[in-house]
Amino acid sequence: MAELTVTQKPQGLEGEGFFATKLGDVIGLARANSIWPLPFATSCCGIEFMATMGSNYDLARFGMERMSFSPRQADLLMVMGTISKKMGPILRQVYEQMAEPKWVLSVGACACSGGIFDSYSVLQGIDKVIPVDVYVPGCPPRPEQIIDGIMRIQDLVKDESLRRRYTEEYRTLLESYNIS
Ligand code: SF4
Repeated sequence: MAELTVTQKPQGLEGEGFFATKLGDVIGLARANSIWPLPFATSCCGIEFMATMGSNYDLARFGMERMSFSPRQADLLMVMGTISKKMGPILRQVYEQMAEPKWVLSVGACACSGGIFDSYSVLQGIDKVIPVDVYVPGCPPRPEQIIDGIMRIQDLVKDESLRRRYTEEYRTLLESYNIS
């Protein structure tokens, strides 16, 4: 019978009956495979996300079938759709209510750059109001692209230092958005 590999183990020392590795790697592995996303979906890209959640693409394979509609119980903010300027402060409030550590995935041309809506009322990219970790291009991106974006987030989560959120660099990034 073929061996079932659920996920790759981190680098470490291995011998008969023992395996030793860094605490940070174990925490990264656990976090990366149990992400709780908050879907902030405002238009067509949100429909593409629903397909990603469906049985054909099955986002549950990544340990993330539990959507969080409360920012306080979410660690990945997925922004999908056109964000109007009026919506900007609300998006930012949702981001601020999420506890650290948190990550942001911007899905589709509208969320990344305003897309085709180069108009007075549309925010020209959510990174005008909150920091973004991974951008997924496309109008709309296919479910495979959304999954690829999530896997890039998983790479970041897995390798992130436990102390990153306390670094000067991270504080400076938040300060540049006037977030304390
Ligand atoms: S990027 Fe395209 S598909 Fe996605 S919300 Fe904008 S217009 Fe709709």
